[in-house]
Amino acid sequence: MNIHEYQAKELLKSNGVNVPNGKVAFTVEEAINVAKELNAGVWVVKAQIHAGGRGKAGGVKVVKSIEEVEQAAKEIMGKNLVTPQTGPQGKIVKKLYVEEGSNIEKEFYISMVIDRETNGITVIASTEGGMEIEEVAEKTPEKIIKHKLKPCANMEMDEAKDIASKLGLKDDLIDKAANFILSVHKTTISLEALMVEINPMVITKEKEVYALDAKMGFDENSFYRHEDIANLRDEDEEDPLELEAKKHDLNYVKLDGEIGVMVNGAGLAMATMDLIKQNGGKPANFMDIAGAATPERVAAAFKLLYSDKDVKGILCNVFGGMMRTNSIAEGLVTAANEVKMAKPVVVRLEGTNIELGRKILKDSGLPFINASTFGETAKKIVEAVKKEEK
Ligand code: GDP
Ligand code: MN
Repeated sequence: MNIHEYQAKELLKSNGVNVPNGKVAFTVEEAINVAKELNAGVWVVKAQIHAGGRGKAGGVKVVKSIEEVEQAAKEIMGKNLVTPQTGPQGKIVKKLYVEEGSNIEKEFYISMVIDRETNGITVIASTEGGMEIEEVAEKTPEKIIKHKLKPCANMEMDEAKDIASKLGLKDDLIDKAANFILSVHKTTISLEALMVEINPMVITKEKEVYALDAKMGFDENSFYRHEDIANLRDEDEEDPLELEAKKHDLNYVKLDGEIGVMVNGAGLAMATMDLIKQNGGKPANFMDIAGAATPERVAAAFKLLYSDKDVKGILCNVFGGMMRTNSIAEGLVTAANEVKMAKPVVVRLEGTNIELGRKILKDSGLPFINASTFGETAKKIVEAVKKEEK
């Protein structure tokens, strides 16, 4: 899960990282009040969405009077911001961050990420701040400094100073930047973040080091230890279907194909997805309904898939060992009746109470397409979807 810049800056600040004074605003009125409170000569009004590249898209404005703050806030609030990271559909801005402007002398890039090769944190730094790091990596890879920390080891002052001097900093600024980097590291460790990115970290004309932008990503599996982070979730930023899935405790990930997949167990899900691909189709999602598959949960899972406009057909491939196939059949029938079932649905059910399960499906009179072997399932749904398209 990612969080907003204003939230990330708050967390950085409480871990000793220098950030300009600023505050979030949910209305234009609030933005003006925040600007007045800040009592600065220059303000920056920034769109708060979970995507970078806002600057170039008109989502970051540097202004010099309260009137201009109002103008900028009016312009950005409610705007559909399209950046390389939002996708072509863009993202509506519902929050602004207003902060004190900085006198930038130079912009740098600093991030800390979990490195799967070393199982530790890798610090990435560059003199090419403000730009997208992917672009820097592609065009001028020699300008990227990578420093791999040992797993569980602390980051030492000497290591941080080494990075600062590789960034070309001198004297006092080496110490200031090194302290900044150590504080970012402390933030990363204490929050168990997957990724903390400061782009840009700036040196001001007054020779101070600040984080002007901040991005953080977390593994939701750590949230039982970090309730405060879990509470930073912004539902506006989540896929509505994934949110719905979470409510029903379904393991669901949206993908870009056309065949909705409903399976119990991650292994069966992967195998089913492979099979769909082999038969020339593309899965629209990963879904594991494992656990207590009550008829209600099965119905919720089915309706969720069905409501996805990208889904042209559904494949339900369930082996009921612990879970009874009659419960699954019941859930399927309830949901299919509700949605009127205009899309093809292939069902392969095996396991406990299978006779009863099949009878429920048959007695429903609904046009479920039955498949009995594993190989048959994917073939049947791909064919059915192709037929619909004609
Ligand atoms: P992003 O485009 O979504 O990554 O948004 P950023 O927060 O990184 O802002 C984009 C750019 O706006 C930065 O690289 C800076 O050049 C500029 N910027 C941001 N804050 C300030 C500021 O306080 N003063 C000045 N002069 N420029 C700023
Ligand atoms: Mn940025």
